[in-house]
Amino acid sequence: MPVKKKEEPPAAAPKKEVAPAPPVEAAAPAPVAKKPEKKREKKHRQEKGVRAMYKVEGDKITRARPTCERCGPGYFMAEHHDRYTCGHCGFTRYKQK
Ligand SMILES: [Zn+2]
Repeated sequence: MPVKKKEEPPAAAPKKEVAPAPPVEAAAPAPVAKKPEKKREKKHRQEKGVRAMYKVEGDKITRARPTCERCGPGYFMAEHHDRYTCGHCGFTRYKQK
């Protein structure tokens, strides 16, 4: 039995050079099924990462958030509407009015 190095699947052969169809039909069978795109209102993107923790003014930086009292400098606390929390140790400090 002769061994063929490249065996093409039989389904691919007729697809190759059979395209006598009019251009209208040729464009119809698109391989990618398009779903109707949901329009999401883009919220103002909140700056994330380390950049969000500092504000650069000229050649000085100010920290935008307080640091954790337990963990020390380097551990910024997350800002919530009524409190700051540390993600490292769970320390919570409520905002004072
Ligand atoms: Zn902490």
